[in-house]
Amino acid sequence: MPKKRKNRGRHKGDKGKEPMVYCDNCGKLVPRSKAVRVTVPYSPVPGDLARELEKQGAIVPRYYVTKTYCINCAIYLGILKVRAEDDRKRRESLMRAPVRREVTAAPPITKPTQTQTTPPQTQSAQQGGQGAPAKP
Ligand SMILES: [Zn+2]
Repeated sequence: MPKKRKNRGRHKGDKGKEPMVYCDNCGKLVPRSKAVRVTVPYSPVPGDLARELEKQGAIVPRYYVTKTYCINCAIYLGILKVRAEDDRKRRESLMRAPVRREVTAAPPITKPTQTQTTPPQTQSAQQGGQGAPAKP
């Protein structure tokens, strides 16, 4: 019998049974390996108000909530998408988490350049001054 998906829509493998979980949206009872788990940030403060408060220096609490959905609800909510026949064979994108936007993008930390550059220069000068970074 041809398989519609490589992992038959689950990640159970050849394990016999596994516990059932309830969908958080519709209450359907689904196997745990078939359910879609999504962790999303949740804040009791609405988004616009939270941005205004953070501009003024207030700390708005943000909690991470893990939801479990059945396949029907995951597709309805846009977490999973119906894919073409060739795309269904790829396993890596089947249970991919939704793209999470970073709320606070921290600037890249750059170390002071003087402390990093001085030791390789002294080592290369001792080895003959080739200019390439010395490897121990
Ligand atoms: Zn559901």
